[in-house]
Amino acid sequence: MKLFISQLFFFFIILTTVESKAQSGELADRLYNAHETYKESTLTQRRFKQKDILPLIAKRQGNPLYIIEKAGDSFEGRSIQMITAGKGKKKVLLWTQMHGDEPTATMATFDILNFLEGKNDGFDDFRKELLEKTTLYFVPMLNPDGAERYQRRTVQGIDMNRDAAARQTPEAVILKGLVDQLKPDFGFNLHDQSPRYSAGRSPKTAAISFLATSYDYELSINAVRERSMQLIVGMNKILQKYIPGQVARYSDDHEPRGFGDNVQKWGTTLVLIESGGYVGDPEKQYIRKLNFMAILSALDKIADNSLTKEKRDNYYDIPENGRWLYDLVVRNAVVKQSGKSFTADLGINRNEVNYANASKFFYYSKIEDFGDLHPQYGSQEIDAAGLTVEKGKVYPTTYKNLGEISKLNAFNLLKEGYTYIRLAPDAGTRSLGLYFTASPLHVLRSGQPTPTGTPGLGNTATFVLKKGSKVKYAVVNGFVYDMENYSAAKGQGIIE
Ligand SMILES: [Zn+2]
Repeated sequence: MKLFISQLFFFFIILTTVESKAQSGELADRLYNAHETYKESTLTQRRFKQKDILPLIAKRQGNPLYIIEKAGDSFEGRSIQMITAGKGKKKVLLWTQMHGDEPTATMATFDILNFLEGKNDGFDDFRKELLEKTTLYFVPMLNPDGAERYQRRTVQGIDMNRDAAARQTPEAVILKGLVDQLKPDFGFNLHDQSPRYSAGRSPKTAAISFLATSYDYELSINAVRERSMQLIVGMNKILQKYIPGQVARYSDDHEPRGFGDNVQKWGTTLVLIESGGYVGDPEKQYIRKLNFMAILSALDKIADNSLTKEKRDNYYDIPENGRWLYDLVVRNAVVKQSGKSFTADLGINRNEVNYANASKFFYYSKIEDFGDLHPQYGSQEIDAAGLTVEKGKVYPTTYKNLGEISKLNAFNLLKEGYTYIRLAPDAGTRSLGLYFTASPLHVLRSGQPTPTGTPGLGNTATFVLKKGSKVKYAVVNGFVYDMENYSAAKGQGIIE
């Protein structure tokens, strides 16, 4: 009989464990599915400014769910706001965009606020627990002057994530003041990283990377940092279902000037989340959704303390961020130079260039490496074995304006090896602020010398790949056009 009872008890333990695990998985899945409902519809792309989020904060003034306070002013006098929700003992400070060009978590923050305001959607118990057990302090867009210019650094030219010790930026003073005043148990330091980091040595982009920052050069682990590792292990499990093999871990080298490292040192469990790259998601709307799901799931683990079930050692199972990715790799192209012939790979990146006061961007693509790239990967790859890489030809006719060029049959030109089109001297594109074209062509302004020689390191990525005398692929400004399966969609020509 005794044995029977203890067996029953044993089964009861197993059942409850299984159930709570299922619930945590289920919560993440339900959050993932609910994101569309709570997505802040006024934020649709990355280059928004503080003026776009201020109304989203102002409209919440007077809502009993929140306390809204000014946290301080940026160097240029932009008022930085803090939104507080919940009345619980566990204090969580979440800040975004201390780097002005890293806005993904700012979008997710407003999705989370919309979510906190929901009801009768199956999440009421979760919300109640969250707001009873935690107090959430949100500081979206900590570097609004940088966001105005879509640049990493503050308007003083200082990287505020290297200013935690010297505190010469008002934004760093604000953040240190909040940490001192609130003494949060947990901090979320929310960033974006290069979309070309890979998860380990793999062709997969690191869509999300984590870091449990180190508070000393010895990379010690105390209870504060251990909780950070546990939270990351929990979020990684949840994310693997949606982005298998695309979660990575930043190097935990100690950075004595960084906020993450210092906040951990000052006694707050600090989780750094980096939104990276996901092929086909240039505006990071999918990664925004992953932020929404992962952050709310982590807050759940903080609220019910279930993070302590995670094993910190599993943190090291997450692969490190790798730098093995180009946007495009052309493999084994035949290069003819000075009457000799050899093969080379071309590593090409489509870099974003801001225009219209950094409210928009165009792509400007360069050949960033040339030679043996066999350890590297391309998010897109072309097998150019047996194909010769050559500069395209300049079309003999000069055109008065871009309107005329847009009417040309680009396919016929590319097929004949013409990648370059010349503009007349008075075309005025520069004064009109035009740097790119929807046509898949490389437009040369008047005075721009005719490109010569073989395509190589540092060149704009415009060239043709030929099989004998026939063009197989045209590459214009880093975008690939297959002459046997032609589509101009998604490409972008360049005016140089
Ligand atoms: Zn950053």
